[in-house]
Amino acid sequence: MNYYSLNKKAANVDFREATIKGQAPDKGLYFPVTIPRVANDTIKNIHAYSKEELALEIMLPYVGNTITKSDLQKIVSETINFPFPLVSVNKKIYSLELFHGPTLAFKDVGARFMSRCLGYFSTQQKKKITVLVATSGDTGGAVANGFLGVEGVEVIILYPSGKVSPVQELQLTTCGQNIKALEVKGSFDDCQAMVKDAFIDVDLNNHLTLTSANSINVARWLPQQLYYFFAYQQWIKENDTAPIISVPSGNFGNICAGLLAYVSGLPVDHFIAACNVNDAIPEYLRTGNYQSKKSIPTISNAMDVGNPSNFVRILELFQSSYQNISEKISGYTVSDEITKQTIDDVYQKDHYILDPHGAVAYYALEDYLKSNPSKKGMILETAHPVKFPDTVEEIIGKSIEIPESVKPLFQLEKKSVLMEPNFSDLKGWLLAQ
Ligand SMILES: *Cc1c(COP(=O)(O)O)cnc(C)c1O
Repeated sequence: MNYYSLNKKAANVDFREATIKGQAPDKGLYFPVTIPRVANDTIKNIHAYSKEELALEIMLPYVGNTITKSDLQKIVSETINFPFPLVSVNKKIYSLELFHGPTLAFKDVGARFMSRCLGYFSTQQKKKITVLVATSGDTGGAVANGFLGVEGVEVIILYPSGKVSPVQELQLTTCGQNIKALEVKGSFDDCQAMVKDAFIDVDLNNHLTLTSANSINVARWLPQQLYYFFAYQQWIKENDTAPIISVPSGNFGNICAGLLAYVSGLPVDHFIAACNVNDAIPEYLRTGNYQSKKSIPTISNAMDVGNPSNFVRILELFQSSYQNISEKISGYTVSDEITKQTIDDVYQKDHYILDPHGAVAYYALEDYLKSNPSKKGMILETAHPVKFPDTVEEIIGKSIEIPESVKPLFQLEKKSVLMEPNFSDLKGWLLAQ
């Protein structure tokens, strides 16, 4: 499989080069030249597949011959070696729990897959690879955990100071070894802009082999399709129609991967792009006009994105047809107040504890189902509520049990480098490393 740049001014590359480069030289995002069709038989017999078999079949065409099948099988199995349960919240709504990985958020899958691919590719070249990544919260921890100890790869994480939760901050600042955290005195958008500038800076790129671990990178983005296949595998045991899927969205990598799964043949009735007040895409879905915005801090902080990177991929998937996009996806804007109210309501009624991101998706789905009363759907619950204890514990009025896997974090010491939100400081620091 080859990948082209959505800016159409750079040469096509294979999966290996797309993964190492992250972004195309013309600043475009890479996109697969063709979208492989999942065999009808695979969909029909999906219940008979193990999740490892299914994952291998889905990922194989995207990786092509850049990784041997047996190595890919190993990478894929390690990537998904935890459960992805579809849990019934009530008669109408299920929750696909994507927080059972090591850092308790869905980003573990993309980060684990990408780190293993990059580790594999780095053995084929002499020069060290530097992963530069901006995080609004969960990417940092997942990337730190995924890449920890991977030889030949150095990881630098930029995060907005004071705007990530304590568990998130510990997960990305306590690894040591090949992982370094830069604490930027600014917003996520500042971090993302600094990273984007680094990728196009000639000096830096002469000194370092830089790549991104944001969902810009195809190796982060593509494996997220797997959630939707795993969801469907479980869904059809209890339902005979295709699901409505509500996805809490920020940079739109996750929902865009779901749309890719749909275009390649997975049955999905409708998608809901559930956003907090950072709603550039819901606004596009309502009006047909896209305008990037400045990001606004909210309690669902991993979705505080003013200019979602993956919007261009969504356009490409639907040949830029506003009509086709708006028929398949509904957008919602959910305030912090409603998010909190939803956490409270669902806990009172169904004894299910939502995190703020899942709550945004829940509210949007519930509202959608009001005007589509014969249908049922699922939310993607993208993070464990314990990652947002201040918000969630105050609402439900009790403390959330900390999973065993997270407890050791609280014994570790935060290590970060404080930095002003400008590119020249980042450049100076990188060149001094
Ligand atoms: C990153 C993140 C999101 C947003 O995902 P995108 O792929 O950026 O749209 C939603 N919820 C949580 C918990 C996240 O960490």
